[in-house]
Amino acid sequence: MIYLNSKLLIIFLLFSKISICKIIITAPHSHCLPKAEDRVCDKLAGKAAKLLAEALKTSTIFSTHYREGTDLNREESRPTQFRIEIGQELKKCRQERQNCILLDVHSFPKETYLTSIKRDCVKHYRTYLDKKEQVQSGKYQEEKEQTIEVQPKIFFIKSLYDENLGDYLFNYLKKFFIPSIIFEGNVYNDIIFEASFNRIPSVLIEFNESLTDQELEFLIKILVEAINSYIKGE
Ligand SMILES: [Zn+2]
Repeated sequence: MIYLNSKLLIIFLLFSKISICKIIITAPHSHCLPKAEDRVCDKLAGKAAKLLAEALKTSTIFSTHYREGTDLNREESRPTQFRIEIGQELKKCRQERQNCILLDVHSFPKETYLTSIKRDCVKHYRTYLDKKEQVQSGKYQEEKEQTIEVQPKIFFIKSLYDENLGDYLFNYLKKFFIPSIIFEGNVYNDIIFEASFNRIPSVLIEFNESLTDQELEFLIKILVEAINSYIKGE
């Protein structure tokens, strides 16, 4: 009996190892001074990263530096304690052949970007958010009518060598009519660049600083669903 149980346990552990994925969350610009009036930190990044980490049952590596001195998302910051810690996590993932993903969390001021979106999508997004009425995907019909310019609620920057995670999250959010944008990767976002170098799927996520608490919670909920779905390979 004991023999059988331990055999079952080994089988269980083998299978669970396949779906276990370590999620590394980083927030390089989250360190804000209490009375900072100028744009030297990402004002919503700390809160968004904390909520995301709680929902995904992981922790966040927060910035240790005020951005004015050192941009912790640039290559020259790699000798800092913050980047050394990230580097060690990535190395561990690679050496132990663990399944890992990295989410680099930021926020942007509301006036920065605009995106074109169908007026209907905005209406559906609000309805979804308020939960007044369930929006059935079949019910939504593309119409010829106006597209309008709105602020994106969120945007993604893909990593250079692994574009799947960014595309996956972006497409998942589309189902909920969330106004979002996706950008191609570049070499300047050094945290996702370093993750790519270690063959760890990664994406940079930027939250709009004008999000209400309700909108932020909603976005986190959908993102967590999307990330879990990506990890399961759905
Ligand atoms: Zn930032």
